Amino acid sequence: MKKDIYLDYAATTFVRQEVLDTMIPLMRQSFGNPSSIHNFGIEAKKAVEKARTKIAQVFGANSEDIYFTSGGTESDNLAIAGVAYANKNKGGHVITSKIEHPAVMNACKRLEKDGFKVDYLDVDEFGTVDINQLKEKLTNETILVSIMFANNEIGTIQPISKIGEIIKANSKAYFHVDAVQAAGTVDVDLKKLASIDLMSFSAHKFYGPKGMGGLFVRKGTKFSAVQLGGSQERKKRAGTENVPGIIGMAKALELAAAERTKENERLSKLRDGLIERVLKEMDYVRLNGHKESRLPNNANFSFGFIEGESLLLRMNQRGIAASTGSACSTASLEPSHVLLAIGLSHETAHGSYRITIGKNTIKEDLDYTVDALREVVSALRSMSPLYRSKEKG
Ligand code: PLP
Repeated sequence: MKKDIYLDYAATTFVRQEVLDTMIPLMRQSFGNPSSIHNFGIEAKKAVEKARTKIAQVFGANSEDIYFTSGGTESDNLAIAGVAYANKNKGGHVITSKIEHPAVMNACKRLEKDGFKVDYLDVDEFGTVDINQLKEKLTNETILVSIMFANNEIGTIQPISKIGEIIKANSKAYFHVDAVQAAGTVDVDLKKLASIDLMSFSAHKFYGPKGMGGLFVRKGTKFSAVQLGGSQERKKRAGTENVPGIIGMAKALELAAAERTKENERLSKLRDGLIERVLKEMDYVRLNGHKESRLPNNANFSFGFIEGESLLLRMNQRGIAASTGSACSTASLEPSHVLLAIGLSHETAHGSYRITIGKNTIKEDLDYTVDALREVVSALRSMSPLYRSKEKG
């Protein structure tokens, strides 16, 4: 029987019907440009500002601290380049971690080319940032620290509040958090998390449209625009606003926040059942990421004597769509930098398989998936001389 099971919700989600329903009128009737001063423009502008208020409420932020962007990648770039170049005269030191998304990693590498000094913090075997090393690295020259809220590959959630405390106690650096995987899933309250100065989020991770994101920038943070053009978004992000996208993102976030507790409970239960079965029923397998401090929808395994791409393709033939690592690195043959950072060998990292569950996932899908995994892994191993010689032992 051909199945069609989507288990790649960390890569992206579908757009919820309720979200789509709010977006269509902004494309058909109220399609004005928010910068226009006629009624069409005023209506669009009103809708944008209403959405901004809604999003700010969910995050416990002021609406004037929310800036709309084209997604997580742009938000990360705007946060990092925007703060670094505006504050270069205060010192050229930036700190990030070894497990950041390429949007942060590559923005930091660019800074290095431009004369900034960047430190990449180690993580432990579970993917938690080394807090002592952070303390050691912070100096008077540090202008920015960028640490992700939750990792897209292994699901580990960082002790963000603690990290923020350390940054503020030991430096004058701004604190940027890539919350692309966390927003919508984890309860992010920027009133409580007062050490966060900037935070990136992206609509397509919580059942909103792709190409739509936002950046929270706390009032008083010195940052400059990266994309130049008109005076939209208070001159911090030029370009005509993606009005339907903005309205859709606000609706998606509002729904995610309202349903969070119940949905996370359901997902955690499904995830734990999946992890338990895989670890119990299969051999030469390890779970990557933190056991407890982990996104409710993430399970990441490494299978010994397996090549992740082959596993992915064979599972795909059985109608199961998952990932070998993050979607962004799937096209590359390099092992995941995240898995290497938690201490895996190249071989083990290559045998990784990420399952991320979501709204449409039911237990039967995961049962089918574990059965398929067992068969596919066994078939692939039977072709591995290394595995055969190990088994003969
Ligand atoms: N940061 C993290 C942690 C992500 O998982 C992603 C996307 O997977 C991004 C940034 C980039 O977001 P976008 O796809 O909206 O550009």
